Amino acid sequence: MYDLIIIGAGPAGITASVYAARKKMNFLLITKDIGGQAAWSGDVENYTGYQFISGADLTAKFEEHMKAYDIKLNDNEEVTDIKKESGIIRVKTKKGVYDAKALIIASGKKSRELGIPGEKEFKNKGITYCATCDGPLFSGRDVAVIGGGNAGLDAVMQLIKIARLVYLIEVAPYLSGDDILQTRMKESEKVTVLTDARVTAVLGDNFVTGIKIKVKNEERILHVEGVFVEIGLIPNSEFARGIEKRESGEIKVNSYNETSVPGIFAAGDVTDVPEKQIIIASGEGAKATLSAFRYLTRQK
Ligand SMILES: Cc1cc2nc3c(=O)[nH]c(=O)nc-3n(C[C@H](O)[C@H](O)[C@H](O)COP(=O)(O)OP(=O)(O)OC[C@H]3O[C@@H](n4cnc5c(N)ncnc54)[C@H](O)[C@@H]3O)c2cc1C
Repeated sequence: MYDLIIIGAGPAGITASVYAARKKMNFLLITKDIGGQAAWSGDVENYTGYQFISGADLTAKFEEHMKAYDIKLNDNEEVTDIKKESGIIRVKTKKGVYDAKALIIASGKKSRELGIPGEKEFKNKGITYCATCDGPLFSGRDVAVIGGGNAGLDAVMQLIKIARLVYLIEVAPYLSGDDILQTRMKESEKVTVLTDARVTAVLGDNFVTGIKIKVKNEERILHVEGVFVEIGLIPNSEFARGIEKRESGEIKVNSYNETSVPGIFAAGDVTDVPEKQIIIASGEGAKATLSAFRYLTRQK
């Protein structure tokens, strides 16, 4: 029986773990990976203390900080269910069952899919959801990024350095990503921006050879070998049954990171706290552990 289980090792879960270790709590960290979305970020320029750092380097710093403490870490393990019964919180994973008196859910978000013909067929055969992870595979090729928000612009900025041509496709009439990124992107002659454009199918044989798009009402085929899907994220909260959520799947929390179930806390992108950023997720992770600590002290 643990005092606390933390689910997820992105910025929120890692920070929650550092705080729990410093409080000398008896806790277990269960996660599918280390770094979460922070590890997918290209350039991070808004984490205080680092004017510029890559997502990979920031993740390495987080991991180094966490591993300076003696933390019980179950990596590569996916939580599938949680349940609170008779005051005990039971966490089920694909590998085992663990009990705790308190829980912090810091399971973040995952990429939204396009849901169009060809997407499933060509997943990892030209279709990817992570420019940082897969961008280097498309050196000298023509690629398309779907989505004109910050994640899409971040992907374009990374791909400018790698690909031959980059198409940025946005369904709305304008891009919604930060102005500073849009300005930098427009400095590159490699980028063609298509707004009011909807991707309707992914084409290929063994690998992607193109995409079908509808620009305004005109159908076109773009011959690209890589498709980077950046159309938003959905919360990893399916396993959190019995906890109040928003329609989007985000877990409802108050300013103490308490969920609707006493003893179960949540932090970071998986929650309905506005603004999804590394520094915000980290701060929320810290707050969640302090709230869990207070909750456990009161229980005693
Ligand atoms: C491309 C991109 C670029 C970005 N750039 C920036 C930037 O420049 N600056 C900035 O501040 N923010 C940026 N962000 C946003 C930032 O990365 C997130 O806000 C932040 O990582 C959220 O942290 P988190 O810990 O809440 O969740 P996540 O980072 O999503 O981490 C969730 C963790 O939970 C684990 N997990 C998920 N489900 C389960 C499960 N069922 N069982 C066990 N473990 C599970 C995951 O493996 C992961 O370790 C970017 C995001 C993206 C996608």
